Amino acid sequence: MIQIEIDNGSGFCFGVTTAIKKAEEELAKGTKLYCLGDIVHNGMECERLREMGLITINHDEMRQLHNVKVLLRAHGEPPETYELARKNNIEIIDATCPVVLQLQKRIKQQYDGSETPGDAQIVIFGKKGHAEVLGLVGQTQSTAIVIESFDEVTKLDFSRDIYLYSQTTKSLDEFHRIIDYIQSHISKDATFKSFDTICRNVANRMPNISQFATRHDLILFVCGRKSSNGKVLFNECLRVNPNTHLIEDPQEIQPEWLEDIQTVGICGATSTPRWLMEQCRDAILRMQQ
Ligand code: SF4
Repeated sequence: MIQIEIDNGSGFCFGVTTAIKKAEEELAKGTKLYCLGDIVHNGMECERLREMGLITINHDEMRQLHNVKVLLRAHGEPPETYELARKNNIEIIDATCPVVLQLQKRIKQQYDGSETPGDAQIVIFGKKGHAEVLGLVGQTQSTAIVIESFDEVTKLDFSRDIYLYSQTTKSLDEFHRIIDYIQSHISKDATFKSFDTICRNVANRMPNISQFATRHDLILFVCGRKSSNGKVLFNECLRVNPNTHLIEDPQEIQPEWLEDIQTVGICGATSTPRWLMEQCRDAILRMQQ
């Protein structure tokens, strides 16, 4: 019989838990509730909430709505979304994670405090087009420069001031490589400041998940393929245990993966519901019967 362990450190972070709780509370009141974008990067959890009545919309669809309630998910939104809500008399249920809100404020203060706004380079290490990053860039009248990886650091102007921030779910190691590179290339007349704004909810999971992945013959990493922090954590599992597979649901488990192994570890991202990891465990148990 194969031993199966579900990682206790995996699952929703408090930002996502709070957003889902807010949605459930509103829906329980019988309110018609819209959510701007997927509430969590997990198709199955989105489906569960859709069945409860949550209607997911995009920005174009929000423009057509008036006098309704719209929930903003943990990733946050740029100021234009709040402006649109005011114009269309939309009540916002703001589930922006407090960690993201704090980061938005810091970037806004940095931008507003610049003597000549737009002169210093406000740089965000993050994924272009990601909802959280759009919310951050929006604090700077869209002047912030987004770099997705260490390779893009060379496009910065090292003769001008640089203020570096990070999307909350990026890799701490890569962030430090970027800092080191800028430090060694910035001109003597320019100022460089970096702000470690990586959420420890994800960063702290790295060492834990890495240990977990080494303990098992097979790792099933359960997560939506769109999740940023999922990608970071999955890659770490894969690095320490090449027998790691990313799956979105139990149907993706291949019987041949279970051949000649003693133990399976099931883990996931901050957006992975516990119930889904349990379903994966149950699917393996059934396959062994
Ligand atoms: S990963 Fe961190 S910043 Fe992002 S929603 Fe969760 S707690 Fe908030």
